[in-house]
Amino acid sequence: MGATEVNWRDSWELAWVEGVVPTQRLTRMKPFQRINHFPGMSEICKKDLLAKNMRRMKSLLPEHYNFFPLTYCLPDEFLKLTQYMQRQKHLSDVFIIKPHSSCQGYGIDLVKGGHKIHKYKNVVCQKYICKPFLFDGYKFDLRLYVLVTSVSPLRVYIFEEGLVRLATIPYQKPNNSNMRVKRMHLTNYAVNRKVEEGDTFRFQSCMKSLLDLNKYLADKGISAPDLWTAIDGIIVKTLLSALPQLRHVFHATCPAPSAVSPCFKMLGFDILLDEKLQPYLLEVNRSPSLVGSAELDRSLKTRLITNVLDMVLLTQKQINLLNNEDHLKSVRRLTNPNATRHLSARERILVEYQPRHEESRMGRFRRLYPDETGRYEDIERVICGSFNQQRN
Ligand code: ADP
Repeated sequence: MGATEVNWRDSWELAWVEGVVPTQRLTRMKPFQRINHFPGMSEICKKDLLAKNMRRMKSLLPEHYNFFPLTYCLPDEFLKLTQYMQRQKHLSDVFIIKPHSSCQGYGIDLVKGGHKIHKYKNVVCQKYICKPFLFDGYKFDLRLYVLVTSVSPLRVYIFEEGLVRLATIPYQKPNNSNMRVKRMHLTNYAVNRKVEEGDTFRFQSCMKSLLDLNKYLADKGISAPDLWTAIDGIIVKTLLSALPQLRHVFHATCPAPSAVSPCFKMLGFDILLDEKLQPYLLEVNRSPSLVGSAELDRSLKTRLITNVLDMVLLTQKQINLLNNEDHLKSVRRLTNPNATRHLSARERILVEYQPRHEESRMGRFRRLYPDETGRYEDIERVICGSFNQQRN
């Protein structure tokens, strides 16, 4: 096996390590290896932390953070929730209860008017969007794939292809008789893909592409010129909300400066549209499923993975450069323990080159951040200022 293949395989193996990664693992990585993980990403990937972050942001920048449904974390915010419910006009509000750390629609319930809410622990209780935009009478949400290649500075890309995940029973507003019908109210693929028929299962089509959605809107004569810009905004603002924390944890975990960020992260953003085509963020998945169940998602996910690896893996020339510099530094460290504190001149060139390297291999990805229009500058300034104030 040639040297190129060995290095490429080493990078590949680490690239898809998921879940909780011990911090020592990051510091022990070779300079050319990259890992699909940013420490601190649970700030937006855990439902309770996301809710707390979004509430904080809404109080700081209400005009920018109006895309997350009202959410209470139980049991801690039980009192606040009951106070909200007791106000006359909210007595019949419907809430969706979701366990903090589950996925695929597990443990989800709809409740009306706070009924039996006290029995729930370690869940978020979120205002249910009762009037979603429907695709041929069915509820749906969007699964969008987002790649973060660096947090310091932030670099974010969105994959141009995404999935439209449909429910499989025609939608009706929640009432006492349909609130438990999961295939009407939940759009998770895991919930909708299988229908039980007697003793057997039938698999059904409950996925479409973003192109199908755009065609549906065009056929119905519905124009939504701002929809995709608003969705881009939701993704960037959500990541910005956790940026100071992400940077702080990243620098604490990887104290030595590196020419290429050892981390990247592919995230799955779930977006729901209401009847006026207003987009709402439902959640951010830290490990979006890469299983291809039907031809549509199999081919999409193959292109996605290939594209991600193309962007994050280094060329043989870059790997050789990093290896050489690493070797030189370890020799220099014998006489000067501070030798690793700074990047060498050649490494600094690589730092500057890295964004261009990514952009030249973007393929079906589109850059969301940095954004040339500067529309997020004020938001970033306020968020970083507030984080620094809290720490002082
Ligand atoms: P999970 O991690 O279990 O997938 P989600 O937050 O994605 O949990 O919710 C599962 C499904 O429930 C979503 O795909 C969506 O169809 C529905 N859903 C979640 N939150 C809301 C909400 N606030 N309003 C309407 N539907 C929702």
